[in-house]
Amino acid sequence: MRIVLLGAPGSGKGTQSQRLVERVGIPQISTGDLLRAAVAKGTELGRQAKEAMDSGRLVEDSLVLGMIRERLGEPDARRGFILDGFPRNLAQAHALDRLLATLKQPLDAVVQLEVDSRELVRRISGRRSCADCGRVFNLLTSPPSGANAVCPKTGVPHRLVQRPDDNEATVTERLRVYDEKTHPLIDFYRARGLLQVIDAEGDVDDVTARLAQALHAPALRSPRRRPARKSAARAKGSRRKAAKKTRAARKPSRRAAAKVARPRRPAGAAARHGKAPRATRSARRRKGARR
Ligand code: ADP
Repeated sequence: MRIVLLGAPGSGKGTQSQRLVERVGIPQISTGDLLRAAVAKGTELGRQAKEAMDSGRLVEDSLVLGMIRERLGEPDARRGFILDGFPRNLAQAHALDRLLATLKQPLDAVVQLEVDSRELVRRISGRRSCADCGRVFNLLTSPPSGANAVCPKTGVPHRLVQRPDDNEATVTERLRVYDEKTHPLIDFYRARGLLQVIDAEGDVDDVTARLAQALHAPALRSPRRRPARKSAARAKGSRRKAAKKTRAARKPSRRAAAKVARPRRPAGAAARHGKAPRATRSARRRKGARR
């Protein structure tokens, strides 16, 4: 899957990209992240990009394009990619077209995340990211909690920091630049038949579900990772209950049996590959034996 996520600053491109990375297993390529890493490392590219970034303007196309060319050439991008924050103007979109034509890897879809401008400002003011693992949170809408409360890199609670360009003056300029330079890409991709528009307001999970629907990606609906392990006794109990429910359903159709049994099993490899859960298979064996 090769996709572009389009949207204003604060529309949730980063958050939804991270969910795609976790659940579909293709890399997120964020020009903002690559540029911030270059600034942090103090490379020549970072030095040249810093001033534009600090004032909310776009970094020069030649710098960004060089960076993208290099990143798309890396082996993990052959399986697909999510472009987040690129392209950001028509010149970049044309350059991306040419680059992907040479690589024989055309885009599959461009999804625009639509959010009201007042909501964008509210979201940006609450945005924080972990200084160690880079995960993005929002103090107002999605603070660290549950399984995400601890940083996977350090094993202690996330060290939350605010991006230096998330201050009021720079945000106003970034939103203006988006309207002027990036918004025209909506028509550009619509004309190519690639554009999907989704409502990106409301619950983060609901937005992910809409994104999954737009991309026809059922794998995006549930996390790839297994949920926390149940104790063996509890898991056995659940399987028994599931089997009992399955037996209770008289002559169940395959789909109905799967519906009853599936939520009671952890989303393991079988579930991910669309195979019938164990309880359903044994129910079928029993059904076969009765014939
Ligand atoms: P946001 O989408 O919230 O504005 P990003 O992390 O995507 O944040 O980008 C941060 C800054 O990095 C931008 O304001 C801009 O200065 C620079 N930048 C990121 N991507 C590009 C790009 N494709 N072209 C030019 N500048 C970019």
